[in-house]
Amino acid sequence: MRTHLGSASLLLAGILVAAPGSALARAKITVVNANAPGIGFNDPTPATPLATNPGTTVGQQRLNAFQFVADFWGKHLDSDVEIFVQATFEPLACNATAAVLGSAGALTVFRDFPNARYPGTWYPGALANKLAGEDLDPAVGPGTGNDLRARFNANLGQPTCLAGSGWYYGLDTNQAANQINLVVVLLHEFAHGLGFASFASGTTGALFAGFPDVYSRFYFDNSTGKSRIDMTDAERKASAVNSRNVVWTGEEVTEEVREVLQPGTPFLTVNAPASIAGRYFVGTATFGPALTAAGVSGPVELARDAGGSTLGCTPLGAGALAGKIALVDRGTCTFNVKARNAQDAGAIALVVADNVPSALPAGLGGVDPLVTIPAVRITQAAGAAIKAALPGVDASLLLDMKVRAGADPAGRALLYTPNPFESGSSVSHWDTSATPNQLMEPAINADLTISVGEPRDLTKSLLEDIGWDDEEKKHERKKKRQQDREHRRGD
Ligand SMILES: [Zn+2]
Repeated sequence: MRTHLGSASLLLAGILVAAPGSALARAKITVVNANAPGIGFNDPTPATPLATNPGTTVGQQRLNAFQFVADFWGKHLDSDVEIFVQATFEPLACNATAAVLGSAGALTVFRDFPNARYPGTWYPGALANKLAGEDLDPAVGPGTGNDLRARFNANLGQPTCLAGSGWYYGLDTNQAANQINLVVVLLHEFAHGLGFASFASGTTGALFAGFPDVYSRFYFDNSTGKSRIDMTDAERKASAVNSRNVVWTGEEVTEEVREVLQPGTPFLTVNAPASIAGRYFVGTATFGPALTAAGVSGPVELARDAGGSTLGCTPLGAGALAGKIALVDRGTCTFNVKARNAQDAGAIALVVADNVPSALPAGLGGVDPLVTIPAVRITQAAGAAIKAALPGVDASLLLDMKVRAGADPAGRALLYTPNPFESGSSVSHWDTSATPNQLMEPAINADLTISVGEPRDLTKSLLEDIGWDDEEKKHERKKKRQQDREHRRGD
């Protein structure tokens, strides 16, 4: 699994959030330095010691960050079997504007071992060892017996590799705006290696060596009503691009969604006619007011200028759209120009129909502080459906507070299944609509903290669902439920 850094993913300085959890390590994670002398972890280039990382060479600071993350995950996991992570810094794919920061995965997988929770199911090595209570793949010589493999980009910040950026090796989130926080990226990549990944092919849907993996057991397609383990290869392939219709069904994640993800998902809701009534996904705008829970409602009108154009690029006539939600087509001029023209004609909101097919509408970029009406984009298909039903379409543009950002209406976390398929990102991450941003989204965002669990993050809960049980947490929850029941009886 790889972490891609999008051009919009520049990191900003943040605050360190202290990690909950016991002070004593519950699993021992050992970093195995696989770099040759003089490079990567052994890079002798002098480095200025940081407040949280006293290393005096680049290599030592890298090792310190790795060990910090190994210890951090060790505090959050429970295993009697030591976990070995074979790690290197080496050149990875990158160009001037984008880079693979790192990649990590399980080195070994096992099925049908003692105490496996599900038969005929692949488990990543570290988890299989934990459940079996013994090392299923012990070292038999140098370089063997490792459970995870992690690679990180040694060239980051060079002119041909995301120029102007660079790793931040501090053990906090005080990185400069142009730096990428190694500890955060490491937390992400370790999670993939611990089991936050499917082993089946995303592009063909074929299972790994004929058997499903434990991750896929909790992957559920809302459109077909099938778990990923019950699908044919063709169905798995189709489901991997079924945008925002795939969820995680594990109990621990679903329990924490209510605590971690914020309420409020933006929608265009068509209230009438019944033939096209329902919720449509929208991309929101970087200008104008944000959608609200109360929202705006009114009749939809396809806005036309004097020449009959539906692009909304020229004045639409004062008062011509009074009280209406203006629908225009994407193209020719910027989105904020369309919004100003609709606003000047009296519209209460702007809806831009895309001019190319897409599974999900992208957002609307642009800047105009004078725009006072909300604006969104809908897909070309949604635009066509609405146009075909005009006149007589009544709609609302609002933030549905019953649907959490990054969850489906039933409260289950959405997995990342964009169309087209994104190699290294699809299936094995959370959807990018999650708010606040999650550690296991496909790109590293500026506001991430050093956290893998509630109340900020869902990563640890997913690992619990696949078998990394947290007995302490289960006990606390049981106790709380008991208290709640007693409280209700007492009323
Ligand atoms: Zn990833």
